[in-house]
Amino acid sequence: MHLKQIKLAGFKSFVDPMQIHLQGQLVAVVGPNGCGKSNIMDAVRWVLGESSAKQLRGESMQDVIFNGSNTRKPLSRASVELVFDNTLQRVTGPWSPYTEISIKRTLLRDGTSSYYINQQAVRRRDITDLFLGTGVGARGYAVIEQGMISRIIDARPEELRGYLEEAAGISKYRERRKETTSR
Ligand code: ATP
Ligand code: MG
Repeated sequence: MHLKQIKLAGFKSFVDPMQIHLQGQLVAVVGPNGCGKSNIMDAVRWVLGESSAKQLRGESMQDVIFNGSNTRKPLSRASVELVFDNTLQRVTGPWSPYTEISIKRTLLRDGTSSYYINQQAVRRRDITDLFLGTGVGARGYAVIEQGMISRIIDARPEELRGYLEEAAGISKYRERRKETTSR
């Protein structure tokens, strides 16, 4: 699954709608301290369903909405969209025939979060389900942040097994079994 494009509007320091095109196999983001590099990765994990504000370096989830600057008023809505190339059909299920898969999340100040797959309203679960077993996800190994390598090295055996199961694509079946047996 190749991430082709990130569209941001009102997310953290990205006040005006903007698009980031990720061309090629290797993309580096460079810039001075505080220019918003980490905010881009926060945006990616946020769309994929991250529900902990702390993981996104905020106090509450509403902290991801642009909260104003010297020259701009705070906004009332944050929106992030990821566009994935699915020509290799890595995604299984109803969305597998689509050559492009777009995932979008929006948040209003009242706390309402909405999720979309290819512009169709879906549940948060539908997004996490779509990527289970691919390594892509709010806590998937596709995003390796500072400190994660040492966390893997120091992980307890059960935790390490979790990473291996996600890499092997087994975690999705474990999740489904858990759901079936808890019903
Ligand atoms: P470094 O090189 O130090 O890691 P960085 O490029 O990763 O810097 P970020 O952490 O992505 O920088 O961006 C921090 C900036 O984002 C800060 O200036 C902060 O004020 C701004 N910011 C974060 N949340 C919001 C928000 N809700 N509204 C407006 N600006 C925000
Ligand atoms: Mg940073």
